[in-house]
Amino acid sequence: MRWQTAVITLVTFLVLALAAAGWWRYGYVPASPTPSSVPEHTPKPRQYVRTPFTPHWDQVPLAEFERQAKRFPGQLWLEGPTHRKLIALTFDDGPTYNTPRLLDVLARHKVKATFFWLGREMQRFPDAVRRAAREGHLLGNHTWDHPDISGLDETTLWEEQVGMTQAVFKQILGTTPHLMRPPYGRIADWQVDFMRRQGLRVIQWSVDPQDWNRARMAFGSHLIERDVQDYIHPEAIVLMHDGGGPREDTVAAVDRLIPWLRAAGYEFATIDQLIDTRPFTGSAQPRPLPVLPVDEFAG
Ligand SMILES: [Zn+2]
Repeated sequence: MRWQTAVITLVTFLVLALAAAGWWRYGYVPASPTPSSVPEHTPKPRQYVRTPFTPHWDQVPLAEFERQAKRFPGQLWLEGPTHRKLIALTFDDGPTYNTPRLLDVLARHKVKATFFWLGREMQRFPDAVRRAAREGHLLGNHTWDHPDISGLDETTLWEEQVGMTQAVFKQILGTTPHLMRPPYGRIADWQVDFMRRQGLRVIQWSVDPQDWNRARMAFGSHLIERDVQDYIHPEAIVLMHDGGGPREDTVAAVDRLIPWLRAAGYEFATIDQLIDTRPFTGSAQPRPLPVLPVDEFAG
């Protein structure tokens, strides 16, 4: 009977160890971080992504983000320029059926966020676009239907993706955004410059809690929450999604993260409050907005 006792002891130990590890990662809420000692208006020497690179997901290498931010100062951003305790929450790929619930949570916490939306989805959910604008959120352009744009020529890029989406904004809201985010964060250098001439700044991110990562969805909203808690920093730009699939976990994580971040001394800002986004003057050579086919506009 000696070996049976050993097996039972081992199994019991393993179950307890797993339960403890699980509780530590998913149940235990970390304490607020110690406040940064850097004076808040000190400029940052570099911009970079804080969350680790994820292999096997065709992600842009983090060094490439940093290189582009360095090459296009003031035009391509990964984070705010100084050390104010501000955070920009950003949500991509909507609007979708998830968006109203996210807007409810943001309204309840009195937080303004920034949305990078797809022209195609805006046509399907124009009421969500109007509501987000009315409630003081900042809206940006995330292309028409989320391709990898880095290989597109100028005409296709504008006429079928970014310009088309600007035209939908114009149609629904009467105004056009001055921010864009390329799908997957993938954009060629000449396209960054082209966006500048269209009056569009390119906004990437510094914290990616991977709410898009299906391999992590089994763990619910907790991993999204913990990644933001582990990697948050002054003037962070946090990447999340209100489109591309069910986003209950994102909405739940945001609901719990806002009070945690406020307890840590952070407040929330839209991208234009975080960085200087005054309209361009002088050398801009914008292309005219494409004309939207009437039958493609549903509402
Ligand atoms: Zn996207």
